[in-house]
Amino acid sequence: MIDLAQYIRDVRDFPKKGIVFKDITPLLGNPQALAAAVEQLSEPFTSSGVEIVTGIESRGFIFASLVAQRLGAGFVPIRKPGKLPHKTIRESYDLEYGKDTVEIHADAVRAGQKVLMVDDLLATGGTMSAACKLVESLGGRIVGVAFVIELCFLNGRVKLPGRNVHTLLKVASE
Ligand code: AMP
Repeated sequence: MIDLAQYIRDVRDFPKKGIVFKDITPLLGNPQALAAAVEQLSEPFTSSGVEIVTGIESRGFIFASLVAQRLGAGFVPIRKPGKLPHKTIRESYDLEYGKDTVEIHADAVRAGQKVLMVDDLLATGGTMSAACKLVESLGGRIVGVAFVIELCFLNGRVKLPGRNVHTLLKVASE
């Protein structure tokens, strides 16, 4: 089996000092690694009746749209404020310093639809927690939450209680 960890590059002090950025571009650039990542993200959900896969701007878009194709589902973007053209709802969440906000089109998910949430990386969990609130406030039923990488030392799962969290690469320490 392909070792996906080989295709993740650590970039120190990006985008600011003290951050070790997990660069997924080597994985995206390798067809076997990308196909394996999409297959492994989708695998637990092939029989879940997923109708919508959401991706969070911007790296989440790449994986979520491929997973949506794999599962025969639609793709819905969750974006930073002011980017989506039609009527939106928004959710803000706390960062270490300040706040961030995510938006979704108000008509992107219908009540009762089964939704799989996808992003590239789980760090503190704030982004995905806010994204889940958006989908549930539209009446979506979240069947799972999937990430390529989990930074386990940041305990992001604490912000996703009771959710079916699926991650491919678990990073134990910084
Ligand atoms: P969080 O809300 O703390 O879970 O942060 C998750 C979001 O921030 C994801 O959309 C990631 O793409 C991005 N992110 C956070 N930390 C990193 C990191 N060390 N390397 C790459 N992306 C990161």
